[in-house]
Amino acid sequence: MPDIAFVNGRFLPWQDATVSIDDRGFQFGDAVYEVIRTYRGSPFELGAHLDRLDRSAAQLSIPQPYTRKQWTQWIHQGLSLAGYPDAKIYIQVTRGVAPREHNFPVESRPTVVMTIRAIHAIGPETRRTGVTACTREDLRWGRCDIKSVNLLANVLAREEARKASVFETILVRDGCVMEGAVSNVMAVQGDVIVTAPESPRILSGVTRTVVLKLAGREELVVEERFMSVDSLYQADEVFLTGTTIEILGVVLIDGKLIGSGRPGPVTQALAARWALLTG
Ligand code: PLP
Repeated sequence: MPDIAFVNGRFLPWQDATVSIDDRGFQFGDAVYEVIRTYRGSPFELGAHLDRLDRSAAQLSIPQPYTRKQWTQWIHQGLSLAGYPDAKIYIQVTRGVAPREHNFPVESRPTVVMTIRAIHAIGPETRRTGVTACTREDLRWGRCDIKSVNLLANVLAREEARKASVFETILVRDGCVMEGAVSNVMAVQGDVIVTAPESPRILSGVTRTVVLKLAGREELVVEERFMSVDSLYQADEVFLTGTTIEILGVVLIDGKLIGSGRPGPVTQALAARWALLTG
């Protein structure tokens, strides 16, 4: 089964899938993106991902190149070419190709790139034992709600995680927990789930939205508010959410044990609900 590449309405062999060096995505990071995964061939929450792509593009005045119907057709065509039951679909839309000037070009057409690859899922043992994290200052810009390809601060944060030999870096601004470098962060305090509110300071995860709905079904109270790093350390449970991460317990943060040091009952109950939804 091949990895699939798509550029501006054409499926191409991987080595032929190229964009211009004048592309504003390359020159300025002037682009938005989405990552969608499939379960048994079917894209999960496709509508929510395409909605967020629309929102991100609109916030940056990047014209949306395809209608919802066209996106859906391209994605399904790519999936059938790739043939992976569990795939990771990456979509990037840039402002297009133009001589390098900061101002928006008068004339440009968005560049669209899509890739479809097999997903490397997190293994059951990691899910059973949970993962570790460190906290670092959030160095990102003021519009983290836009899923733009400007990911340098996230890249640096991921590198911090690698250097600290932990799974994820949790980003902290003014002493408050925002989210992970590639995930949203949730803390369990009794029967309350606390997570940072939707705002320009976080990316509103598609998984976050689904998990908060599932939490309601577990009769958990959801509080969308900022929490201090100390209250994160003291939480009964902490878990991460994200398209490829799904729901993943965090058992050690900055060397401090969280709860019992194992993914707790709320994390496990939500992960079980998630498995029913996607399995
Ligand atoms: N926050 C950040 C910074 C991310 O990069 C991601 C995913 O890439 C998420 C949260 C989770 O978003 P989603 O659940 O839509 O994958």
